[in-house]
Amino acid sequence: CGIVGYIGHREAYPVVVQGLERLEYRGYDSAGIALYDGTDVKFSKTKGKVADLRAKLEADITTTGGIGIGHTRWATHGVPNDVNSHPHFSNSGDLVIIHNGIIENYDPLRQELIKRGYTFESDTDTEVLVNLIEDVKKNEGVKLGKAVQIALNQTIGAYAIAVFDKTKPDEIVVARLGSPLAIGVGEDEFFIASDATPFIEYTKKTIYLKDGEMAVIRNHKKLKVRKIKDDSLVDPYIEELQL
Ligand code: GLU
Repeated sequence: CGIVGYIGHREAYPVVVQGLERLEYRGYDSAGIALYDGTDVKFSKTKGKVADLRAKLEADITTTGGIGIGHTRWATHGVPNDVNSHPHFSNSGDLVIIHNGIIENYDPLRQELIKRGYTFESDTDTEVLVNLIEDVKKNEGVKLGKAVQIALNQTIGAYAIAVFDKTKPDEIVVARLGSPLAIGVGEDEFFIASDATPFIEYTKKTIYLKDGEMAVIRNHKKLKVRKIKDDSLVDPYIEELQL
């Protein structure tokens, strides 16, 4: 399984889809992608191979914007099928997430969200997480990064996630605990992936997020890394990869 993301001046689609192909060696049963096209999020997801996803997407994707995320799934909650594939959206349709790992306490969280009026399309733990983030964001009136942090502090489990908000499509929030996540730092652009192979041709500068860290990655700006537990700022170590 794997995650990929891009935010910057390039078209996100080729970067993300090639990135997914490079991560195929990690094993997966489904693949999906979400791209912001300037007004809305275009997405496609399918049980099967990245090649199937490409075939599905290239039929209707013409141009895309400079922000996108992609996922290869190794199902843990819910069978491998199109609906359970990532990305997953929050009920409002604003937040879109990809996730590798397991949210172990997804069931009580899901019951609580159902009480608050949320509905679920898939059987995944991931769809619970994205709605929990949305619920926190609405109730506490906080920005996406803070909402992700508060929500993650209510979870038990493992994750590498990337999430963005289509109403504020100039940032991607990522976090990790127990699943790998690397950030490629380019010239005015950022790459996200489970390991550096998807972005090595674009940049050698890599931040390997540590367990328990999250980053708010803003287009045209620096990224900020924090500890999920106590909100303390982390000065990230940027590694120069050698080839
Ligand atoms: N637990 C999530 C799911 O079953 C993510 C699985 C993965 O790591 O790909 O959809």
